[in-house]
Amino acid sequence: MNCIQILNKSQKELKKFNKKNVELDCEILLSNVLKVTRENLLINLNKKLEKKEKIFFFKYVERRKKKEPIAYIIGYKDFWKKRFYVNKKVLIPRPDTEVLVEEALKFIPSNKSQRIMDVGTGSGCILLSILLERKKCFGVGIDVSKEAIHIAKYNAKIQQLENRLKFFNANIDNICTGKYDFIVSNPPYINKNKIKYLEEDVRLFEPCLALDGGMHGTSVTEKLIRKSSKLLKKNGKMIIEIQSESVNRIKNMLIRNNFFINNISRDLSNKIRCIVSTNLG
Ligand code: GLN
Repeated sequence: MNCIQILNKSQKELKKFNKKNVELDCEILLSNVLKVTRENLLINLNKKLEKKEKIFFFKYVERRKKKEPIAYIIGYKDFWKKRFYVNKKVLIPRPDTEVLVEEALKFIPSNKSQRIMDVGTGSGCILLSILLERKKCFGVGIDVSKEAIHIAKYNAKIQQLENRLKFFNANIDNICTGKYDFIVSNPPYINKNKIKYLEEDVRLFEPCLALDGGMHGTSVTEKLIRKSSKLLKKNGKMIIEIQSESVNRIKNMLIRNNFFINNISRDLSNKIRCIVSTNLG
């Protein structure tokens, strides 16, 4: 069996289970098994597969049939300019979250040494992407999940950013020291009772801890805002990801906690996704 035949066969099978992106999914899985890039696979479609490769590939397709996200099957997801290693203990980095990085970079000067904290760092994708672009900055990433911290540290090591950051397994409630110039975060913000309506890929595989934002989807964000007003320097900035439905609620929380709202920005599908504010002290 060659690549084109195996792709046709798997795509036909997978289409019975999944609706979207079946062609792309199979190409990514096969190129991962063959340890080549997708482009390389596509220009060598006549290549014959070894038996071992075929077995591996169909195991991957079986996992995808059960809706396991591609990133968990192959073990990584590309975000901003780098590859981030992931497993089921961390949320898969989303292209929408790149808006957060983009916004942060608008406000973080490139010639100054600034201290940045990332709350609920997960794979570390936000903090590492910012530090990659701002060579003089230092970061601290915290997460309540020990396993997430493990992965974030691994990503930092691969990207050779270990000397400019620290990761801690901690809850923001337990952080009492330090004054930061910036706090960034993609907190869990899905309404508790809406989690059951998320796509199966997300609902069945991604960590609920990283999604569940309580009754209105804003309980973790509210804690974050209250605590950030103490951890940020005066005029320090907070850049957080939100769901568009919560924008007014969160604006009010920020104002009540003495923040000035600088910017509200939208993601690739033009939905409100990020809010930048300043701690007025
Ligand atoms: N954007 C994610 C989703 O829609 C949720 C991320 C979050 O809760 N922080 O699945």
